[in-house]
Amino acid sequence: MSTPKILILGAGYGGVTTACELQKKLNHNEAEVTLVSKHDYHYLTTWLHEPAAGTMPASRAQIFLNEIIDKNKVNVIKGTVSNISGEQQKVTLEDGTELEYDYLVIGLGSDPETFGIEGLKENALTIRSINAVQKIKEHIEYMFASYNSEPERTDYLTFVVGGAGFTGIEFSGELVNRIPELCREYNIDPSLVKVYSIEAAPTALPGFDKDLVDYAMNLLSSKGVEFKINTPIKQCTPDGVILATGEEIKSKTVIWTGGVRGNAVVEQSGFEVMRGRVKVDEFMRAPGYENVFVVGDCALIFNAEGRPYPPTAQISIQEGENVARNLKALVRGEKLTMAPFVPNLQGTLASLGKGEGMGIIFNKKKLFGLSAALMKKGSDVRYLYKIGGIGMVMKKIRL
Ligand code: FAD
Ligand code: NAD
Repeated sequence: MSTPKILILGAGYGGVTTACELQKKLNHNEAEVTLVSKHDYHYLTTWLHEPAAGTMPASRAQIFLNEIIDKNKVNVIKGTVSNISGEQQKVTLEDGTELEYDYLVIGLGSDPETFGIEGLKENALTIRSINAVQKIKEHIEYMFASYNSEPERTDYLTFVVGGAGFTGIEFSGELVNRIPELCREYNIDPSLVKVYSIEAAPTALPGFDKDLVDYAMNLLSSKGVEFKINTPIKQCTPDGVILATGEEIKSKTVIWTGGVRGNAVVEQSGFEVMRGRVKVDEFMRAPGYENVFVVGDCALIFNAEGRPYPPTAQISIQEGENVARNLKALVRGEKLTMAPFVPNLQGTLASLGKGEGMGIIFNKKKLFGLSAALMKKGSDVRYLYKIGGIGMVMKKIRL
């Protein structure tokens, strides 16, 4: 039999973990493993709120694939996937290249969920890639620079964060940390700058522990974030947002953090999805395909109560480990030893600006302030160590 071809789509947490685990687990020539991704680097999506606000250089959240992938074991192709054919076992890239596979791992991440809200796609910015966050940082700086020549334009200094889920809260925390520095740099009175966090639900971080939510909201409010809770954004225009209450907030900067859905390529390729995510079986396989695995934000899995797990890096990494383990079994003809995926949730931790955070670990212990921020760093250290060893930890982690 010829060497089986394993094709991994997307160098995010799920795809990179699958590739790194396979390069450790498989012997030379046991399989031909290929990783295809839009860029020749992996990025730490969980850090992107920082370069977006300008509190971290974007390059720190970027890891070139040649630093973590052994090219003798895994081929890397820089390319954008445009179609996946499960029937023909073929993936097409935007430049027309066709790639065949025996086993496929889909890890293409997410797209912003706009819920059909008018004008959002056209007028709002989203925290979704290195390029996107560089654009946000530069836009914010440009707004400060522009204000001085048009001081009547208070909309230049008004920043709207749409959606107070974890991404919105973490970004707001970074933004209010950056603003004093920008005010000094551009000689602007800080009291002129407004940051709105607008949330449709009756609370920020809906569904999360109330003490922790209160802590986050109080801290961010004390640093200048104005929350508008229970107030869905109805429309986004080039001039700002219109809320369900009818109120208009004039702003040249709307950052949409209102949620995510699975990458559109998956749905457009004909896979059955819910909010763009494939409801996978116990081995993370797409329905109807024994050789197509889905990891990360493209996959939908449910807990014992039948509620979907939120799309997180934590789960994506564990899924990548499980899929690599099962691919090794399949390649070796040991199908019966495949293990079902069981998430092992370690907790949820959110950053609230430098040295600040909050969260819950081991499903019961609440952490506030510096201890939460340090614990969050600890989970970053574990991941970086897994994919790049101590060298990668030293290169990327700053206390
Ligand atoms: P991603 O990590 O998003 O990677 C997808 C990869 O696919 C990218 O490399 C992309 O370039 C590539 N790609 C996309 N489309 C194509 C295409 N058509 N062709 C080729 N390649 C393509 N989760 C946590 O658990 N903890 C946190 O603290 C946390 N913080 C977060 C903070 C922020 C600001 C954000 C936005 C998210 C955070 N999350 C966190 C969620 C977490 O980042 C995601 O759940 C996780 O990144 C999903 O991993 P993934 O592998 O599915 O996709
Ligand atoms: P989310 O779905 O968790 O939050 C989006 C928020 O936007 C919700 O609170 C929702 O009510 C609100 N919203 C939706 N429509 C709105 C409207 N029209 N107007 C105003 N508000 C509106 O999305 P997210 O924050 O982008 O997170 C995506 C995933 O990534 C989640 O699974 C999250 O847990 C994960 N994440 C985790 C962390 C962490 O663990 N530190 C950080 C960021 C993201």
